[in-house]
Amino acid sequence: MRLYRYVGPAHLAEQAQSQIPRCQPGSPEELSAWLTAEGYALPVTLTYVVTADRRLRVSDRNSEHVACARGEPVRAAGEIGFRNSSGKPVVDFLTNQSTGYCPEPSCFAAAAEALVEAGFAAPPGFSHEFIFRRCPTCRGISIVKEADFECASCGSALPLGWNFDDTSRAV
Ligand SMILES: [Zn+2]
Repeated sequence: MRLYRYVGPAHLAEQAQSQIPRCQPGSPEELSAWLTAEGYALPVTLTYVVTADRRLRVSDRNSEHVACARGEPVRAAGEIGFRNSSGKPVVDFLTNQSTGYCPEPSCFAAAAEALVEAGFAAPPGFSHEFIFRRCPTCRGISIVKEADFECASCGSALPLGWNFDDTSRAV
């Protein structure tokens, strides 16, 4: 499994130090207690990351993944939905939508593993798979739609392979 480092805009990286509420649930009951304490009701959509030590961590859906991860590299990141099933939160949907980490769809394996470790049933796959590429020309982050590997900003061709593994940063 790959470790994804933060690749998003530098001004958002500053949020790595922000003290937002986060939960690293060890069980559905722990998540349920945190949701109640933070004033959420099911169904709820949250931001999630899978930490380097393979733990699921969630925070408010409007928080940046880099804040949820405290700026550290992650094994997976995206959005997660929980719904109510007999008083317990169960996973409703899961994606890899994170423009901060731009993880590949294959990070699903890490997300599923962390969910199961925390006592949740993992879905069979991402509800929606996002394909991210760094534009080689304008350096922007593009989401590939309908297998059209073209930068939405400048029209340049995007590489077919995931390309956030270099050391260059967004401008
Ligand atoms: Zn471009």
